[in-house]
Amino acid sequence: MKVTRRRIGELGIDLEQLRAGQAVVTCIPDMANVAWPAKAIFAGLSREDLEAAAQRSPAGTVDSAGDTVALSFNCYVIETPHYVALIDGGIGDGKERPHRPAWHRRETRFLDTLQAIGISPERVDIVINTHLHADHVGWNTRREGETWRPTFPNARYVVAEAELAHWTNVHEASADGNTLHGAFADSVLPIIQSVGFEAVASDAEVVAGLSLRSSPGHSPGMVVVALDTNEGEVLFLADAVHHPLQLGDDGIVCNFCEDPVQARATRLDLLGKAAAAGTVLAPYHFPAPVFGRLTAEAASFRFVPLDIEMPGQPAPNMRAEMRRPEGN
Ligand SMILES: [Zn+2]
Repeated sequence: MKVTRRRIGELGIDLEQLRAGQAVVTCIPDMANVAWPAKAIFAGLSREDLEAAAQRSPAGTVDSAGDTVALSFNCYVIETPHYVALIDGGIGDGKERPHRPAWHRRETRFLDTLQAIGISPERVDIVINTHLHADHVGWNTRREGETWRPTFPNARYVVAEAELAHWTNVHEASADGNTLHGAFADSVLPIIQSVGFEAVASDAEVVAGLSLRSSPGHSPGMVVVALDTNEGEVLFLADAVHHPLQLGDDGIVCNFCEDPVQARATRLDLLGKAAAAGTVLAPYHFPAPVFGRLTAEAASFRFVPLDIEMPGQPAPNMRAEMRRPEGN
């Protein structure tokens, strides 16, 4: 498998593109390299933990002096001769997220970026939501006047049945209708009420060579997604792992995991198998470079990015420098 950096000159960004068999996988971060307060995602991290994590993590991904970790929100587009699929839907534009300032009323170039690699919204055949958290479903919909419409009008929207059932129940029982920071109402319900979700088993094959794998814990029905190619497997990790610092200490738990014990078991199982098999990983929240393999080292893992063919200087979105999110 080969990774190249594709320059999108008119937008001043670079994208990582993986060629795997007949598939081309492009990483399109909806947000890249954002400095996130460490305690806001890993409440249990002490200053000492963060300093140790900075030592063993890739350059630029942990700032122990600033108490921040770098997070990206990586959507992936898979193009094969047979289909175009989008794995996870980012945060989206124009959403009301007053309790998440960095996600509130955004205006981005996400759809322009898709268009720049030749993907109009109409060309997307499959959208997979690995789970229904607000930072994974945003681009399911876009605003048209006062309503939210499917962004990808011709796509099958696929989600695990268990995940959809869980959050539907939570929403129906909620008093304020603000489930998932409002994402259920503006990014999930409008799909249910228009084109509909395809609610599938947690290990379903969505299309030949593209399958879900049950990975509960972070969210009750979360799945990861496996792309099978004649050069090996690519595994889209969703929120099984949030940050490279978790690879070196399996006790570091994200604040947003519904069932931390189950999430840890899921993570260790996935990582162990991926390290043993040499699987290429496509993590959702890791800053660039995003495509890599794991090596197992004693009780921990190390993420080793695939070599990238990089003509010229990388654009700002691909430098390992954290940025403050707008509005935070
Ligand atoms: Zn997430």
